[in-house]
Amino acid sequence: MDLKSLIRDIPDFPKPGILFRDVTTLLSDPVGLRYTIDLLAQKCSEIELEVDYIIGMESRGFIFGAPVAYKLGAGFIPVRKKGKLPAAVHAIEYQLEYGIDTLEVHQDALVPGSKVLIVDDLIATGGTAEATAKLVQKIECELVGFGFIIELRDLQGRKHLPDVPIISLVEY
Ligand code: AMP
Repeated sequence: MDLKSLIRDIPDFPKPGILFRDVTTLLSDPVGLRYTIDLLAQKCSEIELEVDYIIGMESRGFIFGAPVAYKLGAGFIPVRKKGKLPAAVHAIEYQLEYGIDTLEVHQDALVPGSKVLIVDDLIATGGTAEATAKLVQKIECELVGFGFIIELRDLQGRKHLPDVPIISLVEY
């Protein structure tokens, strides 16, 4: 199936010079959505049969991560922007193009030693995924891999990530 045909390109969003890869058109396609989740889950299970948790980043990581967790029989853990999670959190600051952002996870979200896989819609510079991997270290879990729908190859995001398998379904 040609997933690229279901992903919409929006020039100059959210700011001039950025070509935004819009997955809402993929999500609204019943066949495309099912195919995407099934394929990502299958590739994730090839990395590691017994994953304990999928970690997904706010907000499109939630959309893809939760159904993959369901398919793998794993739990789902949300990583959120600062101030959104109600209980005690671990936090990590990371560099954006302009300024700094913070990601947080509940301190008691995962059992230490668990095997976790990080899922997001897209890897660009890799900053978000790298920060999430550092959060996994803080909670003393074993990161077994990353799963993305889209990888922007030119930005070389994967070179910032730890040495574990990295899946992407579509490359630009
Ligand atoms: P990065 O930290 O640079 O790898 O950026 C990854 C995050 O930003 C992902 O959660 C994406 O949803 C979002 N993102 C970055 N660049 C794009 C893009 N060109 N199109 C759509 N989403 C993007």
